[in-house]
Amino acid sequence: MSTRKQHDDLRAAVRELCRQFPDSYWRELDAERAYPEAFVRTLTEAGYLAALIPEEYGGAGLGVTEASIILEEINHSGANAGACHAQMYVMGTLLRHGSAEQKARYLPQIAKGALRLQAFGVTEPTTGSDTTQLKTMAVRRGDRYLVNVQKVWISRAEHSDLLLLVARTTPLDAVKKRTDGLSMLLVDLREAIGHGLTIRPIRTMMNHATTELFFDDLEVPAENLIGEEGRGFRYLLDGLNAERILIAAECIGDGHWFIERATRYARERVVFGRPIGQNQGVQFPIARAHVNIEAADLMRFEAADLFDRGEPCGAEANMAKLLAADASWEAANVAVQTYGGFGFAEEYDIERKFRETRLYQVAPISTNLILTFVAEHVLGMPRSY
Ligand SMILES: Cc1cc2nc3c(=O)[nH]c(=O)nc-3n(C[C@H](O)[C@H](O)[C@H](O)COP(=O)(O)OP(=O)(O)OC[C@H]3O[C@@H](n4cnc5c(N)ncnc54)[C@H](O)[C@@H]3O)c2cc1C
Repeated sequence: MSTRKQHDDLRAAVRELCRQFPDSYWRELDAERAYPEAFVRTLTEAGYLAALIPEEYGGAGLGVTEASIILEEINHSGANAGACHAQMYVMGTLLRHGSAEQKARYLPQIAKGALRLQAFGVTEPTTGSDTTQLKTMAVRRGDRYLVNVQKVWISRAEHSDLLLLVARTTPLDAVKKRTDGLSMLLVDLREAIGHGLTIRPIRTMMNHATTELFFDDLEVPAENLIGEEGRGFRYLLDGLNAERILIAAECIGDGHWFIERATRYARERVVFGRPIGQNQGVQFPIARAHVNIEAADLMRFEAADLFDRGEPCGAEANMAKLLAADASWEAANVAVQTYGGFGFAEEYDIERKFRETRLYQVAPISTNLILTFVAEHVLGMPRSY
């Protein structure tokens, strides 16, 4: 049996948990742009956010395949895993590159739910997708780093205890390669807020708890450096494949949700004396969206299998993210069209999920940037940027 058809028990258990948080829960939070605290707490207590943490640190020791199924089922239930997904992949950087002492200090606490590592600070307003141009500086002063400048779109910072920050420790004009000179620091947000860090929420088209961060001489203990100074860009790349696969799985979950809702509505809605789903003009777009979700899902499981076997999976992880994000967006559009006017009404939840799944064309990496990767690294064409 293929991996895709396995894990029925895991799927059923996540679904069961999500049933406690029906559409109305998410709809009300969306209207207020409020954080799904009760959902994240329940998910944490059930151990799902510690899926990738090894058993020796108190986690479930599962693979990316299983972790991706958890996130898929969350989105498939109508929920939004964007409220908490980062903990799964951000933790990977600490696991792979943190010292034994850092791992022993933080991972068991994260696994228990006593600490949240939900925030990852990469993007800056003036550099966008070009991470090598990051400006935020962390300058070593004895046993501390002094952090200055700004980050944007840093999600869940108000709902996390820890932030994994990517900052420049050597100025760009002093490095040989533009990928050198970046470092990763673990920032304790509980100590930082009000002592050099200001967090400003950004209201967005969907409920995403994203923020701007302003660093003004924030002091971070030097012992919070992850791995070696100056190698942060490599550590960042190491974590991206897991992130791409997990986000692809969320898109797959969204896609199934849209298709199920659209199919049900097309069967039940009667216009001109027959179900609208009897018209090929209505059923074909839904059928095509289903085909595309299923195809994207194959690439997602291929990437997850490779990742879990420790094999290179950069191409597959990126292609899975692109295919799944496109397929969920297509399914979202089709669902709105199938629902007609009701697709725009808040009480049907289609418009909410439509806004939520749109994000994945842009973040955590935009479709164009995936295409530049495939063009250059898979097809061997000249670098375009
Ligand atoms: C809701 C939300 C949550 C986010 N959460 C986080 C987070 O938690 N942590 C974090 O660090 N970041 C986060 N991000 C940032 C996200 O990763 C970036 O928005 C994304 O990487 C794109 O960067 P940008 O917005 O600066 O766009 P830009 O880099 O300015 O790009 C703008 C457009 O131009 C296109 N483009 C740029 N260069 C090229 C090129 N060479 N060829 C072709 N097209 C190009 C892009 O594809 C894009 O469509 C979040 C963003 C959003 C909207």
